[in-house]
Amino acid sequence: MTTPQSTPQSHQPVPYEETTDPRYAQEVVANHDLAHVKGNDYTLTCLCPRCGAALEIPLFEPDYRALLGARRAAAQPAPAPASAANPPVPISCDCLGTHDGRPADRTGCGAFWTLTLS
Ligand SMILES: [Zn+2]
Ligand SMILES: [Zn+2]
Repeated sequence: MTTPQSTPQSHQPVPYEETTDPRYAQEVVANHDLAHVKGNDYTLTCLCPRCGAALEIPLFEPDYRALLGARRAAAQPAPAPASAANPPVPISCDCLGTHDGRPADRTGCGAFWTLTLS
């Protein structure tokens, strides 16, 4: 890892736009952390791939199982039946930063993606 933790990435005040891109998920998969909160609650920590905000996204049991399953699969490759794919986890940016054009009842920059960690 060459990413210095003490240097937060600056927030990009990009205009609000509800958009997604395959590379969003790729970036988050490559650079995320999963923290156990309590019980079945986990928190996914990552940077928004669009605006760079630090995000903390609560995950509940079905979601984190998909993530943990994916981690195990990555650590020790095992033959997985094509029909047993992990369900995609829907994620959207919910930063509190400034994004022009954002509706008053929304948060984030509009970026959304799904983590399909298969
Ligand atoms: Zn933002
Ligand atoms: Zn964002």
